[in-house]
Amino acid sequence: MRIVLLGAPGSGKGTQSQRLVKAYGIPQISTGDLLREARAKGTELGLRAKAAMDAGKLVDDATVLGMIRERLSLPDAVNGFILDGFPRNIPQAQALEAMLADLREPLDAVVLLNLDLKVLFKRLTGRRICENCNRVFNIYTSLPGTLPHCDQCAGARLIQRDDDKEEVIGKRLDVYEAQTKPLISHYTAAGLLRTVDADADVETVFANIQRAIAK
Ligand code: AMP
Repeated sequence: MRIVLLGAPGSGKGTQSQRLVKAYGIPQISTGDLLREARAKGTELGLRAKAAMDAGKLVDDATVLGMIRERLSLPDAVNGFILDGFPRNIPQAQALEAMLADLREPLDAVVLLNLDLKVLFKRLTGRRICENCNRVFNIYTSLPGTLPHCDQCAGARLIQRDDDKEEVIGKRLDVYEAQTKPLISHYTAAGLLRTVDADADVETVFANIQRAIAK
């Protein structure tokens, strides 16, 4: 199965991708995670991406497309994948279509996680990730009086991404509105879009996604 998870930053793409990985046995391909990994390793690509990421802007298409092409050619992507955070604009969507047409492996569905802007803002400011495995937590939805921790990575800290700081979030949401939202009409016209209400608990949203994919 080849799926794109579409949605604004904070709509739950990362959390839901991790569930889809377990349910369908296909990898999550997150361009945000790949870029953060490249930065942590200090590669040339990572250094190139840094300025755009810190400013909440999109990294240039050539860099992101090169990274995606390489990742899709790895053996674990042969039976399908979940694209999380890619494509982010129309040129990326067109490049993806061309890549998949070459492989004769078109997308099966594009799932839009739909959420109100106010809710997105709160989710993003409360988001923390495990420094080791990237699992996503939220200080507003963890049990009262407890700080969330990653039970899979003993001793690992939960950290706030630099671009989840309040001053960058507004910029990222603007970029979504201007550059990523046009993908909704693009994939509606292609007959691939399935819209899911993402303002519910993780399990309910996951069940809605599974229903949407099965359609
Ligand atoms: P994310 O974790 O998906 O929110 O991505 C974090 C940041 O990485 C974004 O704000 C962009 O700077 C960059 N990024 C991630 N995916 C893409 C993409 N498909 N195209 C361009 N930039 C991206």
